[in-house]
Amino acid sequence: MCTDRPALGEMLEYLVTLGAIEFRPEPLDAIVERRLKAIWAARSCPNCGEDTLQALDGSDRIWCGRCDWKTTYTRGTPFYDSELAPGEFLIAFILYADTLLSINQIAFLLSPSYKTLYDRIKETETAFVRGFPTVWERISQTVGGPTQVDETQQVCSGFKGKEPPREGLNRGGSPEGGRTRWTGEQGDEVTLVAACRDVLRVVSAAEGTDYEDDLAPVIEQAADLSQPLGEVWTDGLPAYQGMEHDHRYVVHDDGYVSDQGVHTNQAECLWSLLQPWLAKFRGLSKQGLEQAARTYGFLRSLNLTRAPVHALIDCVVVNAFR
Ligand SMILES: [Zn+2]
Repeated sequence: MCTDRPALGEMLEYLVTLGAIEFRPEPLDAIVERRLKAIWAARSCPNCGEDTLQALDGSDRIWCGRCDWKTTYTRGTPFYDSELAPGEFLIAFILYADTLLSINQIAFLLSPSYKTLYDRIKETETAFVRGFPTVWERISQTVGGPTQVDETQQVCSGFKGKEPPREGLNRGGSPEGGRTRWTGEQGDEVTLVAACRDVLRVVSAAEGTDYEDDLAPVIEQAADLSQPLGEVWTDGLPAYQGMEHDHRYVVHDDGYVSDQGVHTNQAECLWSLLQPWLAKFRGLSKQGLEQAARTYGFLRSLNLTRAPVHALIDCVVVNAFR
């Protein structure tokens, strides 16, 4: 029987209540500071054009040695002017993107108010999704083999611009008491499309299953991130027949691997991981679903390449310096 209790993480909450688990953002703060200061120091002054900017240990300031220009090293990043330290941002975002914990549960583990944490995670997510392609290009990575493309239907039960449900925030009281299952209008159905090639995972959400409008964009983005694209393997969806890329397909009714060895198992596997992750939101708007699915794909790509936490930090901050 499915109940309102979260699927995972309740015993973990006890450990935090007992003080057995404590998060220490300081090591991450230090990495973010080192990384951002190094990037600033390599830049020229936006005011006078002086070749390099100055940064010192023990100070947040970045300044120009020639003119008056100065700023703070977090300027332009989601870490700027926030009540959360960079390390807290990153812990929250990693718990969000890399575990099945809900944002409510993460708020409980980290303690800031739910609203603040929700906004900060979403900001970090927006920056991460935007910055990923630039950082991916820099990660020395040979992506080869066929690109497997698959699609699945997903119903959004969107918040329609409203705040997400706030349940189980009450530390002391009964968790059931604070829990109100969100019963908004059932949203639209979208098509999630995934392109998987080697360690790269690109997911997007589309309105339907038309090739040009709905299926092609994710294939093109996968091509951008892993040039050249090579052969595309799909299931038997007729829409794919119109694609210009070299492609082969497997018809699932005939078995999951064609006689020629064509399959979309990587994409099927991605769905099996993505579905429970999306379920933790208990409803997402179309736009929220698109962003969340994309986040999962990109984070999965970083994890599959065994990228260090620096790569994640770079994704979040890279657009501040472009
Ligand atoms: Zn200057």
